Amino acid sequence: MDLIIRGGRVIDPGHFDGDADLYIKEGKIAALNPGGGTSDDEKGVPVIDARGQIVVPGLIDLHVHLREPGEEYKETIASGCRAAAAGGFAAVCAMPNTHPPNDCAQVTEFILERAQSAGASRVYPAAAVSPGLAGEGLTPFYELAAAGAVAFTDDGLPVANSLLMRRALEYARGVGRPVIAHCEDPLLSAGGTMNEGVTATRLGLRGIPNAAESTMAQRDIALAGLTGGKLHIAHVSTREAVEAIRIAKLQGLPVTAEAAPHHFILDDGAVSDYDPNTKMYPPLRTASDRDAIRQGLADGTLDAIASDHAPHSSIEKQLEFDLAANGIIGLETTLALALKLVHDGVLTLPRLVELMASNPARIIGVPCGLQTGMAADITIIDPDAAFTVSVDDFRSKSRNTPFEGWALKGRAVATIVAGQVIFALEE
Ligand SMILES: [Zn+2]
Repeated sequence: MDLIIRGGRVIDPGHFDGDADLYIKEGKIAALNPGGGTSDDEKGVPVIDARGQIVVPGLIDLHVHLREPGEEYKETIASGCRAAAAGGFAAVCAMPNTHPPNDCAQVTEFILERAQSAGASRVYPAAAVSPGLAGEGLTPFYELAAAGAVAFTDDGLPVANSLLMRRALEYARGVGRPVIAHCEDPLLSAGGTMNEGVTATRLGLRGIPNAAESTMAQRDIALAGLTGGKLHIAHVSTREAVEAIRIAKLQGLPVTAEAAPHHFILDDGAVSDYDPNTKMYPPLRTASDRDAIRQGLADGTLDAIASDHAPHSSIEKQLEFDLAANGIIGLETTLALALKLVHDGVLTLPRLVELMASNPARIIGVPCGLQTGMAADITIIDPDAAFTVSVDDFRSKSRNTPFEGWALKGRAVATIVAGQVIFALEE
């Protein structure tokens, strides 16, 4: 399908930033015409008027739980991909902690087939580090990588065994893929339901110290140094982990990291009324941790913004705080919450595009950009469109968000994959 996107501010980090027309032919970028004026030869080709809007490479969410196979009542690959498209994501990286988990090539292939038939966002599957996420032994890394796994992780759980983590990084290096680390010392976090601190004490809830994350981040950074394997640290929540990653990067170690919107927007004060939608792992931390994550996103210490979209039904979530499942959905709010950092002067728009498109692509080794000949994966964003978050509007099957009713500014007006418009905002 051919398409002209006319008059937007095109931001392709490292390559182009300015007003331009984009001409898409047969699913690929055919031309980028600065200053506009795409010629009359293209008469009859549909035109999207993007004046006043931002045109960027298709956003990629590195951390999404799609729940299929096994928990289709929470989310399916199709519903998750529609939610992703509505949130501006042309692609998502799917975590392997499904039932069964993605620990063999058949599951990887199943996910890719389902994603293909959904006809929405692309799915890049991450495979498990250990069979059954049991933390004992390794999955067949070569076979999984050949089937399409872009990364390896036991996310949801840490790889508690240090020797297994070492071997995972060695094999991941061999197949040229990163290990995504869910950094949690399970002995330090055991029994905890929220951040350890004055709020937990006041609420009578058992706390999880920052060190439950930062000690594991330090261990994994040391193992990345030992092995040369690429380490990607998921959902960074503490100032200590940000600092450890900053030092690792200064030392030239192969370490990247992501942060989730709830960790740079909220702090543990949000838990005050025991709302289960403020319960996730890692937990909401203090305002000083939140500010350290904002700083890390701005200065390059943190490489990506990822939703950690974790759908749950009310059966698991609408319970007393201690018993409620961890996690919140995020595909349809992440872009607006990230844009809040732009509106607040923490990030520039080009930096936001690095964090949500080019860096995620680099981390998992997939293409991303608006240069001639590349697949036309594009997100068109109206950074100033005001809206109120309403779960009734969500494509996701789940409703577990702490941002219901929030007034936000900025959203995707169109998401395009290989030249096909997979989402268009209805006015
Ligand atoms: Zn995790």
